[in-house]
Amino acid sequence: MYYSEDIIEEVRVRNDIVDVISQHVALKKKGGTYFGLCPFHNEKTPSFSVSREKQMFYCFGCGKGGNVFTFLKEYENYSFQEALTVLAERAGVTLPKEEESAEQKRESDLRAAILEVNRKAALYFYHQMKSERGKRAHDYFLKRGLSEETIVKFGLGYSNPFRDDLYRAMKAQGYSDGLLKETGLFTIDERGAFDKFWNRAMFPIMDANRRVIGFGGRVMGDGEPKYLNSPETKVFDKSRNLYGLYLARASRKDYLILCEGYMDVIALHQAGFDNAVASLGTALTPQHASLMKRYTGRVVIS
Ligand code: ZN
Repeated sequence: MYYSEDIIEEVRVRNDIVDVISQHVALKKKGGTYFGLCPFHNEKTPSFSVSREKQMFYCFGCGKGGNVFTFLKEYENYSFQEALTVLAERAGVTLPKEEESAEQKRESDLRAAILEVNRKAALYFYHQMKSERGKRAHDYFLKRGLSEETIVKFGLGYSNPFRDDLYRAMKAQGYSDGLLKETGLFTIDERGAFDKFWNRAMFPIMDANRRVIGFGGRVMGDGEPKYLNSPETKVFDKSRNLYGLYLARASRKDYLILCEGYMDVIALHQAGFDNAVASLGTALTPQHASLMKRYTGRVVIS
């Protein structure tokens, strides 16, 4: 996507760098300059400076510096496009959209609708887990050593032991069978409509932008299969996503820990390793590798 210099400049000007950085770093004014502890290296005395006049930041300790776009790219590991989108939204600037063909429009509307159903399903599973019925899943998480805070942070949940519970809940909200089928959460055919997940501890899978793209479920009791993932859908490509990446990308650590499953990632995050990710029940692909390379040059395989 191409943006004109004008629109980039407008977004830059309308996002004061001191305001933006203050949301992430505690700054104190000294003369005409603001100082704080550098978020890019470890230090005890502030050498990270931000100038409102120049709309630039610079660290006298590690040498990192730049404008408001550079800051968000470095701090959040955003691409330029992502930094621009976030800052445009923050300042209420509307970015021009590329003309979509009718076909592309249908596709992107469908993807947005699938993401919406996924998000609602995640909420539904969460509320089931918090209810009396979901106690076994809640107990399971606690037994695995997870804190309440961790359970909420990862949006864990429970799918009821009924065959069409989620389906009925989504139908009640007016979603069509055609759309529900596309989410991979249901089997809908001439025999009827059934949930894919039931009686399982649920792990929503989010992409790097924190959107729910699919689910993993671990059966409660002795059912088979023990672990079940959403099938691939228009929004869920297992070879291009890593569990936990939306958190790990914001980690201050300069490497990623690649582990095997959801529970490994969650346990590591709870123990302070907020840079852990996992592939989604698949072998490691070249796409996974280039995805990680966007954020770091160093990956520890655990
Ligand atoms: Zn620094």
